[in-house]
Amino acid sequence: MQHPENSDSYSGLTVNPGIPQPPTVNPYLRPRQRRRDNTPSTSEIIQGILRGDITMLSRAVTLIESTAQPHQAIAQEIIEKCLPHSGDSRRIGITGVPGAGKSTSIDTFGIHAINQGHRIAVLAIDPSSERTKGSILGDKTRMEKLAVHPDAFIRPSPSAGSLGGVARKTRETIILCEAAGYDTILVETVGVGQSETAVHSMVDFFLLIQLAGTGDELQGIKRGIMEMADGIIINKADGDNIPRALLAQAQFRNALHLFPTPPSGWTPEVLTYSGYYEIGIPEIWDMIDRYFAHVKANGYFDSRRASQARYWMFETIDSQLRAHFYDNPMIHSLIAEKESRVLRQRQSPFTAAREILDTYFDKINP
Ligand code: GDP
Repeated sequence: MQHPENSDSYSGLTVNPGIPQPPTVNPYLRPRQRRRDNTPSTSEIIQGILRGDITMLSRAVTLIESTAQPHQAIAQEIIEKCLPHSGDSRRIGITGVPGAGKSTSIDTFGIHAINQGHRIAVLAIDPSSERTKGSILGDKTRMEKLAVHPDAFIRPSPSAGSLGGVARKTRETIILCEAAGYDTILVETVGVGQSETAVHSMVDFFLLIQLAGTGDELQGIKRGIMEMADGIIINKADGDNIPRALLAQAQFRNALHLFPTPPSGWTPEVLTYSGYYEIGIPEIWDMIDRYFAHVKANGYFDSRRASQARYWMFETIDSQLRAHFYDNPMIHSLIAEKESRVLRQRQSPFTAAREILDTYFDKINP
């Protein structure tokens, strides 16, 4: 039989009868109940945080960590509203190389502080998370006792972005935690690289965890980190390790004598303890108490917080300006072009930079 398309009378508009449609796709399928949208409003989140509701606090921190523009806008509104309720806390930075015993110690310190009537938030700045695509710090399983305690809030390091971006998010999270009633904020960082400086820019007291062992403890410790420390605590001072820990204590004390007195007027102390066997913990807490009494009396507490606030304002301006500049597609391709000219010595780096900046100011941002 010939195909109808080959017939002269075929117009292409004929509709074939086909088979009758079944009455419904699946008669057994009941219409699905529409899920009620139970996303809380911004003011519900704020009210929740101020009530100390952990779920709302976690939601808000997730908004802070999000890179989506609408989330950022909501996050900033929440931070603004929480700011008047924040600040009344002790912000303590803790650093130490992997294996120094940070998580064991934070678990022990945290429970000790909770037993004294405090509420603890543990945050982290983890520079490696960008590479590993997952945080190694602030992990709940590493702080077994705190993780299940209702008076503790543990949040792993935000994982996306540069160290500066991660640090800013942690700093913003501190504000929300304080508004939610956490009066002791522990910010943990792994003792390698730049992240100590970032933590130092957001805490009142900086604790350096050290290990005794090889006899040359001071090797490998960057002078800058020692200078930042308000307290050096030598962990694992238990069993056979006690004599070595005491030796390390003496060495650190000697080394600290060589440093000028810091602007706080507080001479950093060196203590030994065991996070695992819970030895020497009240002494560490007592040192922290004395530090706060000292800096609140001499005004350093307020001036340090003020200079940190100023630092974060300029830091935010810097990072947003840079992002606005470098993320611009026109600038991006112009930089590539100019860079290759500079590398081939066709143009000086200064005129290349000048021309890129002129383009930015004249064309993109007139
Ligand atoms: P982090 O990598 O700095 O967080 O270190 P961890 O808290 O995970 O501790 C590393 C290892 O040291 C673990 O096996 C702990 O059990 C052990 N450790 C931590 N604190 C102590 C301590 O006070 N004494 C002893 N003997 N071992 C400890």
